[in-house]
Amino acid sequence: MSDDPPAEAQPLQRIIETRICFHDGCIATAGFGYEKPKGGQRWYCFEHRDDGERYLRGEGTESTATN
Ligand SMILES: [Zn+2]
Repeated sequence: MSDDPPAEAQPLQRIIETRICFHDGCIATAGFGYEKPKGGQRWYCFEHRDDGERYLRGEGTESTATN
């Protein structure tokens, strides 16, 4: 008795670029990108968009040296 499993189509392995919120301790998916010419790009979730706004304005959300 042959019991061959049906040849099922292998699901395509897709690499979906998932961005995680830059906010410390937050692991939510970040859908909001903020980019500064000199600071690079950061991504924040809906909840922490304010962090991104502050980042753009130069009001660091982390301990950065003020100049
Ligand atoms: Zn967040």
